[in-house]
Amino acid sequence: MAGILVIAEHLQGALRDITGEMIGAAVPLKEKLGGPVTVALIAGSDRSLTDGLRLKGVDEVVAVDAGADHFDAELYEEAVLRLGSELKPKAILVGHTVSGMAFAPALAARLGAGFASDVFGLDAADGMLLATRSAYGNKVNLEVEFPGKAAVVMTLRGATFTPPEADADVPVKDISLSLDDLAGRSSHRDYEEAPPADIDISKADFILSVGRGIQDKENLPRFQALADRLGATFGCSRPIVDSGWLPKPHQVGQSGKVAANCKLYVALGISGAVQHLFGMKHVDTIIAINTDPNAPIFTVATYGATVDVFEFADALERNFN
Ligand code: FAD
Repeated sequence: MAGILVIAEHLQGALRDITGEMIGAAVPLKEKLGGPVTVALIAGSDRSLTDGLRLKGVDEVVAVDAGADHFDAELYEEAVLRLGSELKPKAILVGHTVSGMAFAPALAARLGAGFASDVFGLDAADGMLLATRSAYGNKVNLEVEFPGKAAVVMTLRGATFTPPEADADVPVKDISLSLDDLAGRSSHRDYEEAPPADIDISKADFILSVGRGIQDKENLPRFQALADRLGATFGCSRPIVDSGWLPKPHQVGQSGKVAANCKLYVALGISGAVQHLFGMKHVDTIIAINTDPNAPIFTVATYGATVDVFEFADALERNFN
């Protein structure tokens, strides 16, 4: 067993960001683990997506003609199982996404491999993989080892690893796995898009977010107007969404969106729970306003003030009208 096999994820003719990110996680481990980084595209006969998989550090892209472009959990499970028996990788990386979670655990069970989900840190020591994931409602981080396992299947958290640059020299090989026996077991009917969101936290460079410290839904429009006036995207913590005050696309955090391109994040009345901080970890500058001097948000804030959010809003309104 050697090397790493990355399973590309794609949807409606486009690679998903998690694919490049998984490659970014795999490449730095090459030396420590030994063996090549292979990226598998399981799709129909159209090989155009292989171009986006040719990234620095990848040794080979393998294109598996599965007879269909859309995702099918059973087909992926079988295809990766057969690829695994052929390539014998030490690690198989799958996105921690709805699709990835639909086949990775079954794949690990059938391979007799180790398994870790929602991994956000990867390392290797003495040829053994080490995965970092959280536990106990994300209160602690665990380093997971896989003693006695020749191979490990892992689902990797999105927006965590950085994709390498393109490298047109990476070779692409076709692999035939004869998956005909699975044909017709399920059929793809249609894609249904979620209603479009009016904001995209992951692309915003300036976010003003509110938390439970704003106390009442009636106070929300005031902070939303403030964000508009400052030119900021309006974000929030999860309780604001759970209470139905704002729709889900506004939520920053582990079960919301990651502010992956944010330069300035203003957190108003947000305590700074680990799950919220997860969504802010790429932010350059954080300004935190909270009446509690011991609020965890101050441990990550660049600038902080123990001020009432309403007094802070008064001051901003006076200065930016
Ligand atoms: P609180 O923790 O209640 O904090 C409110 C803060 O406001 C306090 O620090 C208080 O001192 C301050 N405050 C009160 N009044 C004022 C005032 N007048 N002026 C100034 N400050 C004031 N949370 C997320 O945000 N995003 C996620 O994606 C997310 N995912 C989760 C996933 C899981 C599996 C779990 C278990 C939890 C998740 N959570 C998430 C919830 C998270 O644990 C916290 O409960 C949540 O972030 C707390 O939100 P908050 O900071 O708005 O509220």
